[in-house]
Amino acid sequence: MFLNILMILSSVFFLNTDQSNPFAFQLDKDVFVRFKALLVNVREQRVSPQEAEDSFKQIMHELREIYPNQKDTIQDSQMYFPLTKSNISAVGGKGGNGFYVRRFNLFDHSVSGSHPAHDIFIYDRNRDCVDDRKGEYVDIVSVGDGIVLASEKNWTDTSSYKGGNYVWVYDIERGGLWYYAHHRKVVVDAGQIVKGGDKLGEVGRSGFNALNPRSDTHLHLMFLSLDDEYSPHPVNYYSWLKDALVVNESTNARPLRKDFENVEALVTKKLKPLKTKYSDLNLNKKIKKK
Ligand SMILES: [Zn+2]
Repeated sequence: MFLNILMILSSVFFLNTDQSNPFAFQLDKDVFVRFKALLVNVREQRVSPQEAEDSFKQIMHELREIYPNQKDTIQDSQMYFPLTKSNISAVGGKGGNGFYVRRFNLFDHSVSGSHPAHDIFIYDRNRDCVDDRKGEYVDIVSVGDGIVLASEKNWTDTSSYKGGNYVWVYDIERGGLWYYAHHRKVVVDAGQIVKGGDKLGEVGRSGFNALNPRSDTHLHLMFLSLDDEYSPHPVNYYSWLKDALVVNESTNARPLRKDFENVEALVTKKLKPLKTKYSDLNLNKKIKKK
């Protein structure tokens, strides 16, 4: 009896400790396996957009439960500039007009014609991914604090998919998702905690279109906010980039926890179906359009 009370008390104590420390890890690796499987299934059109959306919302619900937004609003959020020794002048388009959304559906691979993101360029006339002015590869850093949800490291130029080597990060401050694409190299893995300024990889030309010689070497960066129903919405974060902190030297993310290793290997084994133990969330119901 006494032992039981002690255990309850200690669990309450530890819960409180965890809540005050956003980096105390409480997810199991199943979340990462399901998220990566979702990305692959959508890309390969192995699931219907509705199935993919339901699965996405369940995963986001779990993340939001564990990591409630630390900021009340995502407006004008302070962020780290995603490329080292770089600033707003590297962003493509005029005044942020590289960002445009006509139709957007994260879950339907056939929907295209939008660019709900900014492309951030390096100077690379000979297409070797070395910045001509800096004389070195340019690091891609996390724009804020978060958890790496998925990464792709093994893209090859025989692969037709667009993102190439990429990183998805769940932003624990804003409760949204950052998608970084076209890396020449990715140095983080699913499950890894990253802070603003931590290195995710290096700017590259991986991805079906990015590889084209006509394409200038860049990072493709998208931010998706989540509404109350966990639906993703692209955000034009151009104003945040203007005020972003310039990172001269990237930092290293904490190493991956041992028990989160080999998430990749698990993904290839269980691509379908996208089962979840949270089926009682009733997220499958149709959401009323406003
Ligand atoms: Zn792009």
